[in-house]
Amino acid sequence: MAGMKCQLAIVGLGTAGAAAAAAAAGRGIDVIAVDSRPLEQTGASWLNGVPAWAFDMAGFERPVAPELRGTESRFHLLGGWGPERVRLEGPLEVDMRALTERLQLLAEGHGARLIGQTRVTGFDASGLDTTAGRIDAEVILDASGLTGINLLRHPSVARADLCVASQSVHAIASPEGAKAFVKDHGGELGDVICFSGVAGGYSIVNVRVEHDLETVSLLTGSIPASGVPGGVELNRRFREEHPWIGDTLSGGSRAIPLHRPWTRIARGRFASIGDAAGMVHSAHGSGIAMQMLAARLLADTLADGGNPWDYNVAWQRKWGGLLAGADLQRRFVQHLQPRTLRAMMRRGVMTPAMLQAPLQQRPPRPPPAALLRALPGLATMPRSVRAMVPTLARGEALMLHYRGYPSDPAKLATWSRRLARISGTVD
Ligand SMILES: Cc1cc2nc3c(=O)[nH]c(=O)nc-3n(C[C@H](O)[C@H](O)[C@H](O)COP(=O)(O)OP(=O)(O)OC[C@H]3O[C@@H](n4cnc5c(N)ncnc54)[C@H](O)[C@@H]3O)c2cc1C
Repeated sequence: MAGMKCQLAIVGLGTAGAAAAAAAAGRGIDVIAVDSRPLEQTGASWLNGVPAWAFDMAGFERPVAPELRGTESRFHLLGGWGPERVRLEGPLEVDMRALTERLQLLAEGHGARLIGQTRVTGFDASGLDTTAGRIDAEVILDASGLTGINLLRHPSVARADLCVASQSVHAIASPEGAKAFVKDHGGELGDVICFSGVAGGYSIVNVRVEHDLETVSLLTGSIPASGVPGGVELNRRFREEHPWIGDTLSGGSRAIPLHRPWTRIARGRFASIGDAAGMVHSAHGSGIAMQMLAARLLADTLADGGNPWDYNVAWQRKWGGLLAGADLQRRFVQHLQPRTLRAMMRRGVMTPAMLQAPLQQRPPRPPPAALLRALPGLATMPRSVRAMVPTLARGEALMLHYRGYPSDPAKLATWSRRLARISGTVD
């Protein structure tokens, strides 16, 4: 493969890189993408919740079975181990192995050259050094994830901003036990039962028993830097306590970056996407929707004659504020105890009107009537909970601030200083 040339070189073929390859090749861009793993093993190997609207907006078909593993089912968000809860509509449950394969096939169908088992070992201003030779490209996209090549030299992510999550699918050893579990927690087969705040405010144990009682999906996650067990340990403990859960069929675990997106996701001919760019809706550690949307934006920008900086500006203006606001929500819930979460639910502070939009990765704009209804309950809560209202207001301020992301790089330092003041965080 010595001495290849292309318009767009992509490092990493997880969901982010595969979506970018598919979108860009679909717009007629000459793409070469490499991944250090075999192509059928790239990216995430678990099931992820993804809102349906993101597929539509990114211009990818919505998933169908077997890629689609669960529809927008009822989502019971319990405070701690319950019984207090808020009932919401969940996102689609999607098998990442199948989605990544679909995006890769789409990219190849549009003429992209995808190369597995090829590691990028270095880079300079014009291209990449790989274990299979040199690739020179007009634009180079870092889709190599949280621990990849870090083309843009982003700072390393603080441990306090890392969620360790685990997702697994298991056979059901005792259908009777599974049925009883769902019933005892006030749900029905196919519903998501999500226990929140069980290992620190930002933590979940999320259980979904399939209608056919053949399998159960488990999703666990927390921030271990706060001294709590991580997602892998939460998964193990939950299974130990629930012997109706049988053998592991699939799954995986990893850290998810929760900080707000990096302030700058392009420099010169380099750009980044996905976990490498910090493109995660950190209220629940979701990366897939945002990376598909970014892939579309990058493809359109380049196909219309733009450059990586134009992509950066367009992306920050369109999505940066939403994700920075989600990071504020994450920081807010991170300190809540299960008893506080339960009280918020009992007193009408945490309601579907407050939570549905963030779960679907929409701006958290509760209708004024819902806010008014929450106020009496809120007034009885400690100051740390009353901070919810200023958090929502700061989220709105962030959305506004990101809409004014400067097109002139020379103005970025001033813009970033104001961002740090509103968000309370620096890059
Ligand atoms: C357990 C768990 C549950 C999750 N649940 C959800 C969810 O419900 N909804 C949601 O939206 N998100 C969820 N996420 C987050 C989501 O899975 C990630 O945001 C997403 O998988 C990141 O994709 P990526 O393509 O950016 O990076 P990755 O999946 O990390 O892909 C990067 C690729 O780059 C390759 N690579 C790295 N370095 C090099 C190199 N030097 N040369 C060549 N190739 C390289 C790697 O082999 C890899 O294939 C979850 C994460 C976890 C861990």
